[in-house]
Amino acid sequence: MIFDPGHGGADPGAVGPTTKEKDNALVLVKKTAVILEATDRFRVKFTRTTDKDFCAPAPFNVDLDLKNRVKVANTLGGDAFYSFHNNSAAVKAYGNEVYALSAGGEGEKIAKAIRARMALLGMVDRGVKYANWYVLKWTEMPAVLIEYGFINSEEAVILAKLDQAALAIAQGIGDHFGVSVEAPRKEGENVFDHAVVYFTDTDFSSARIISRKLGGCAMYCRDGNNANIHKDIENCKHPVIVGGAELNIPGATNCCGTGAPETAILAARYAQTL
Ligand SMILES: [Zn+2]
Repeated sequence: MIFDPGHGGADPGAVGPTTKEKDNALVLVKKTAVILEATDRFRVKFTRTTDKDFCAPAPFNVDLDLKNRVKVANTLGGDAFYSFHNNSAAVKAYGNEVYALSAGGEGEKIAKAIRARMALLGMVDRGVKYANWYVLKWTEMPAVLIEYGFINSEEAVILAKLDQAALAIAQGIGDHFGVSVEAPRKEGENVFDHAVVYFTDTDFSSARIISRKLGGCAMYCRDGNNANIHKDIENCKHPVIVGGAELNIPGATNCCGTGAPETAILAARYAQTL
């Protein structure tokens, strides 16, 4: 699967009261990938895992960004392409919509499967739509584009439901490909048993080595925009801290080097024990 967090770098995408679309898309992509890969039936590759655009060092322009973005996706190659976004409008608007290039293809089938799961999120269901957008048209694989919420009018909902949205999207993908996708391992209601907590985007690949071995866990970014992050970690029975300063909380395993390279070594070593 090719996951594409929309926008990035010089292009923030739509901007909400406290967050930017580019950051929300990146967080959602990573959460979705971890849930999907826990099935061991999918592998996810990313057009980006950091805050970057596809023009640098050239100045940003949207046509070049999309062209290079699609080139990256096609070079990576995959069974399907998913672009993650937040919607925005000049007026108050709410809900989720999933786009495909046109009716009748596999892209539409995937879009319908994701839409069916997202319709259960308790947000407005705006359905499957069609658009002749560059990333849908020029990717050499079935492609969908997910508009998760309207950042201008429901940012708080978008942030509060990130984990549920990630699960819904992963389950929609699973439904299409005939793979059962389960919620991250939980102990009691809404309490994650295992979680991997990475520090910055550069620690994400180290964190994934561990999440794959755990085979089902929550994924948090300490630098991310999840306002409940510290509460989440406290509720977690076995948090694995990857990068940044060590956290001395009950049950925690720290894989924290003095920088990302040392963190990667510590994470790989710990993953081998799992
Ligand atoms: Zn967007």
